[in-house]
Amino acid sequence: MSQGCDLSVLEELTSNAKQIQDDVLNKILKANANTEYLSRFLEGSSDKELFKKNVPVVSYEDVKPYIDRVANGEPSDIISGEPITTFNRSSGTSSGNQKIYPANNIYFENQLFGYALSSAVMSKHVDGYKQGKAMVFSFTHRISTTLCGLPVAPALTSFIKSKQYSSMAKKCTSPYEIVLCPDPKQSKYCQLLCGLVQRNEVVRVGATFPSVLVRVINFLEKYWKELASNIRSGTVSDWITDLSCRDSVSTILGEPNAELADLIEHECGGQKSWQGIITRLWPKTKYIETIVTGTMSQHIPALDYYSNKLPLVSKVYASSEAFFGMNVNPLSKPQHVSYTFLPNMSYFEFVEVDDDGGTTGEIVDLVNVKLGSYYELLVTNFSGLHRCRVGDVLQVTGFYNNTPQFRFVRRKNTVLCVDVEPTTEEDISKALARATVVLESSDLILTGFTCFGDISTVPGHYVFYVELKATVNSGTTVLQLDNKVLVDYCCVVEESMSSLYRRLRVKDGPIGPLELRVVQQGTFDSLMEFFVARGSSISQYKTPMCINSAEALKVLEDKVLARFFSDKSPPI
Ligand code: AMP
Repeated sequence: MSQGCDLSVLEELTSNAKQIQDDVLNKILKANANTEYLSRFLEGSSDKELFKKNVPVVSYEDVKPYIDRVANGEPSDIISGEPITTFNRSSGTSSGNQKIYPANNIYFENQLFGYALSSAVMSKHVDGYKQGKAMVFSFTHRISTTLCGLPVAPALTSFIKSKQYSSMAKKCTSPYEIVLCPDPKQSKYCQLLCGLVQRNEVVRVGATFPSVLVRVINFLEKYWKELASNIRSGTVSDWITDLSCRDSVSTILGEPNAELADLIEHECGGQKSWQGIITRLWPKTKYIETIVTGTMSQHIPALDYYSNKLPLVSKVYASSEAFFGMNVNPLSKPQHVSYTFLPNMSYFEFVEVDDDGGTTGEIVDLVNVKLGSYYELLVTNFSGLHRCRVGDVLQVTGFYNNTPQFRFVRRKNTVLCVDVEPTTEEDISKALARATVVLESSDLILTGFTCFGDISTVPGHYVFYVELKATVNSGTTVLQLDNKVLVDYCCVVEESMSSLYRRLRVKDGPIGPLELRVVQQGTFDSLMEFFVARGSSISQYKTPMCINSAEALKVLEDKVLARFFSDKSPPI
């Protein structure tokens, strides 16, 4: 199905969503009706109505015992008629803890199909899309195994290592061997080196998620002199010891190139700021390909700054459980991005979410969602998940043919709360977006953000950790922090919070003044390293919007440079 994926396929799928969803469910039930899991509810029947009536809506924790049994060596058909061949380890940074999801070839074929279709959409919207190369930063991890020897890896690692991926790799500046390098530092360095050498061919720059892209730019800031020197001499630094990395990067590096080395030194070291560094080093870049919806929107100001406001393209919405949808208007502004679900990927259901964030219990099919309503997504896939909560809240924004389009709103359970106010990811994203102007007025941009609700103080209060960067090179690496500006930042953030927050934040009320803790440059790199050392995937890494783990907070606490507090109650 992945071959010859053109836009007529999209028209066909989205015009027949109801029939295709029925067929998908039929196929899954036929394959799985006799599994130990489903037969408890269906007694071997593959009837759709019985499925709807008897099969419960579950969370990952409910199916975990079954998944663990398969991982420990019991047959796949406990949960899935289609054999389980691998486990996808979720990033665990957006949901809080890592999970392993069963998967098989259908999962990877679906991913490839989704990406191929989304490339067809890109070709329609971007002139010359197919002509140049992509400098997309991807990383893979060592694949571990379960007790019975089945592979466990982040979904992107398994996808990149699968035979399905090789066709996609050809259009990238980084040779496949470099992406496969298990040492992220060597891989990152070599990917940058290859990208710089092929700078005139690069038409798109990206990473699946923007935390990685921002960290790559930080890395470039540290290593540009060495990269330029490698290009000048035509030899790769000695610390690149991974042999296949070294071989493939040496081939691309070719002869010494003083002209390119001079150019890199001029752009990285000789200018008054790093504004537009992406477009200066890769002048033919047409857009930045990275997901900036949901929690990832916190990276928009930094990406705008580094790319001189090139379009930011969020192509797809997918997870370790399934591929969900794609953006059919890829050049739309980040705040207007919606994802059109692909009805052939899995069986999708939706539980309506009310204004308080609770679910009403009513479950509707993909084609029956209502415009404007908010829903929690449930997935039934080809590898053993049945009516499983994904944990994402989505809003219906429109329809493409008969298929709904959704805006990603937030993770369901990520909330800050120090009294009775539920502050969601979306509330925080909106507050950050509004307060950006305060930083800009002082020539600062946000390059890292997370927060936590501190209830060790009375009253409890919100703590926002921010990593900031000066947009103008003042000749010193010491950040100039203006007390008035940063206190003002706290106040604007609080003004943008929900009315309940603002009511509780009155003088002597149950919520204390919001606190801003500015951390040293590189702190969010350390936070990412902290999570990666605990098994998170680099490519799937999303800086957590809120942090509860004391160990992770310590990484930030050790690097706090200065603290500021809001100095007035926000208007009610
Ligand atoms: P993982 O399984 O670790 O890759 O994480 C999947 C989760 O990442 C999803 O359930 C979403 O919460 C988030 N995610 C994936 N794609 C997007 C997107 N396009 N926009 C916003 N959040 C996304």
